[in-house]
Amino acid sequence: MDISKKMHAEQSNKKLFEQAKNYAFDYSNSIAERHVFPSNKAISDLIQFNEDMPSHSGNSSDILEQLHRLGSPATTAHTGGRYFGFVTGGVLPVTLATKWLTDFWDQNTALQVMSPITSKLEEICERWLQQLLGLPESTVAGFVSGSSSAIFCGLAAARLRIYQNLGWDFNKQGHNGAPPVRIIAGQDIHGAVIKAVALLGFGLDNIEWVAGDDQGRIDTTQIPQLDNSCIVMLQAGNVNSGAFDPFDDICDQANAVGAWVHIDGAFGLWAAGTERLKHLTKGVHKAHSWSVDGHKTLNTPYDSGILLCRDKEALITALQASGAYLTSSYSDNRDGMLYTPEMSRRARAVELWAALKYLGKSGVDALVFGLHERAVQFAQELNAVGFSIINDVVFNQVLVSPSEEDHVTQKLLETIQASGECWAGSSIWKGKKVIRISVCSWATSEQDISRSVKAFVDARNAISER
Ligand SMILES: *Cc1c(COP(=O)(O)O)cnc(C)c1O
Repeated sequence: MDISKKMHAEQSNKKLFEQAKNYAFDYSNSIAERHVFPSNKAISDLIQFNEDMPSHSGNSSDILEQLHRLGSPATTAHTGGRYFGFVTGGVLPVTLATKWLTDFWDQNTALQVMSPITSKLEEICERWLQQLLGLPESTVAGFVSGSSSAIFCGLAAARLRIYQNLGWDFNKQGHNGAPPVRIIAGQDIHGAVIKAVALLGFGLDNIEWVAGDDQGRIDTTQIPQLDNSCIVMLQAGNVNSGAFDPFDDICDQANAVGAWVHIDGAFGLWAAGTERLKHLTKGVHKAHSWSVDGHKTLNTPYDSGILLCRDKEALITALQASGAYLTSSYSDNRDGMLYTPEMSRRARAVELWAALKYLGKSGVDALVFGLHERAVQFAQELNAVGFSIINDVVFNQVLVSPSEEDHVTQKLLETIQASGECWAGSSIWKGKKVIRISVCSWATSEQDISRSVKAFVDARNAISER
């Protein structure tokens, strides 16, 4: 059969989409009881994907069937309530349903003329986020794939502006012969920031590292004398402890001399949008750029990062290598590509809009504070059964130190992970291996926490019996 005829039939009779929907519901209905990490068999069965690329067009229904049979069991259960690995995030039902609908739209969000609806919703999200997070009115937003990309964009805007302050047109003149720019960063900064510093050509050896305190917060008293050649990288939410840097004072110092401050708030910046946790982000509005994920704390589907920047001109000039927007060669409406490195982009802001519209301010507060409460519960229940918690649980991160000996911690962790009851990862904190728990999903209930604590206890018993 002619392939386009086949596709026309698939498009119109919709059976394929019914099949996908049934698999999706089957998956979601079983999520609470399935192993949080796939079984060894599910992983070894993936070998069945190893085949030469087919010579001929296949059968769509068979493709979906194979994906569900082999693929679904080899997923990690992020959307259940007991996945605490890395810092990830569940998915709000309304955002998932929105994604289904917009998948059928398949919009390209580069220019308003390519998709008026996604341009409009980017504009709305930009304004809502500025207001929710209490950022300056001039703040603009770029909707990118995640915080790694958002940090890169913020630092590119900073580079452009700081060089301009020093009388250097970076887009034209580049690094050769440029006056020195100083990068100031806390020693607990995230790897994504370090990567962006390297990618943008500043050189890791040129970072002026600032010591952190016992929670991984930058030590204000150790900040070097700042000047107008400085870019200061701070964080809202240490990826291990969840701690927030003291923004207020450092931003005041930076603003007094014309330095730029970027805040990596991948999961923690949402605290600024909550009544009950916003004290953690005091002074955050005094920075120049911020990066945050929709796909972590806010629980939108993946592939949703946001760069917020108060200096629109610096951002656009850095990302477009031209000031073309000033001459209005684009439309009067919002052209999303001006604020991102990419041109073609999917309509990720629609899911973000759906999340914000659904939750409202009180819903954001309930979601974010709920993650915090579950983290506190986790820490308290673990503590009550003799596990030591080594961080102040200010947000959603809990660091557990089951043993002074790294190999014992590792053994315990592997036993917990293999139980399928819950999943947490490890990290190194102050030179010691620890178990890192991140409570990131709306779906995590009090019962999920207690059940996970029991998995910790069972694992400890299993090890000591051996
Ligand atoms: C997750 C994370 C990043 C990277 O974000 P991606 O969305 O994965 O690119 C950066 N900084 C912090 C603090 C993070 O937690």
